[in-house]
Amino acid sequence: MSAIICTRKVLQKTIAVLRRGGERGEERVALWLSGSAARTPAAIVEVYEPDQIADVDYFRLPPISMRSLMDHLKATRRRIAAQIHTHPGRAFHSEVDAEWAIVRHVGALSLVLPRFAATTTTENFLEEVMAYEFSREGDWNLRPNIGPDARVTVTA
Ligand SMILES: [Zn+2]
Repeated sequence: MSAIICTRKVLQKTIAVLRRGGERGEERVALWLSGSAARTPAAIVEVYEPDQIADVDYFRLPPISMRSLMDHLKATRRRIAAQIHTHPGRAFHSEVDAEWAIVRHVGALSLVLPRFAATTTTENFLEEVMAYEFSREGDWNLRPNIGPDARVTVTA
């Protein structure tokens, strides 16, 4: 299992990035980067906002944006610990999300926030976010946010 740990500052920045999309009535995706060492839990050190094409019910990273992302990861020696995106309504992992997932390795985490993150705060983040993990069988499985199987930990 892959677990991540992030600060409230990371959450604050993430929520701000995602809400800006919501203000335009668009989904938004951000990437949580950690150091390259495969450590569990992985500490999130950067909130990366890729260039993206988005609308009310999807986001895409055009090829040039994927290239910038890869260059950035190489230059900073970081890796993608999780992707996080918003939905206009309920938070769940759709078939489109599975098709367009930026991370897709076993143990990859994909987080989804409801209502364009309009109601998400650093305090209620773990109640609002839905955390999915990519399985060996190729499925995105919902993981709990509390208890020993929780994948995301928030620190002060
Ligand atoms: Zn989605």
